[in-house]
Amino acid sequence: MKQDPRPAPFLVGENPALDFLNSVAKPRSERYDWLETGPDLLDWLVATGLASESELATFRQAATAPALEEARQEIVAFRDRFRLFIEEVCGSPLTDVGHPVIAEINTTLARGPRFLQIAPAEKSDASTAQPLTLLDRHPLTEPRDLIVRIAFAAARLIAEADFRYVRNCEGPSCTLYFLDISKNHKRRWCSMEVCGNRAKAAAYRKR
Ligand SMILES: [Zn+2]
Repeated sequence: MKQDPRPAPFLVGENPALDFLNSVAKPRSERYDWLETGPDLLDWLVATGLASESELATFRQAATAPALEEARQEIVAFRDRFRLFIEEVCGSPLTDVGHPVIAEINTTLARGPRFLQIAPAEKSDASTAQPLTLLDRHPLTEPRDLIVRIAFAAARLIAEADFRYVRNCEGPSCTLYFLDISKNHKRRWCSMEVCGNRAKAAAYRKR
């Protein structure tokens, strides 16, 4: 079996929409893309928790491959536009509420059928004592529905995140983005392993 030259996806965004952006990453000289093929896309959706393996089972059948590839291309093209948007608006409060990417996301969201479900609340969310929460569900009936999940994640980021804390890693050429949810908002790196230690070592050598 051919070994995958890619490491596991860098899920450092603290937000699924930023992890989507980071599904193509060039932390240093090497560029990795975790959405190179249809099956790649399915694996990545499972790895990020945006879809479950059982939901995607039918999309792994050979007959679905062309539709899956078409869906992948649409998703990758959206990723490029979403990246330009994030590059433009990150680091300060979001003011460009009429940005074409927002309209595009709305169009995608309107495409998918959806329903609400009551589900157990996440235990990590201590801000509410409610044991149950209302979940928004987009059923996946065909590959072209996959982008709706991603668009929903992007919509949540745009509508709910404080864009002052959406940042590009400070690694000199690192393309990774994250939402800084740390208490004092002093996060600088995608991860210590990839960029943080390297910067510290460089600073140490300078001294
Ligand atoms: Zn980095």
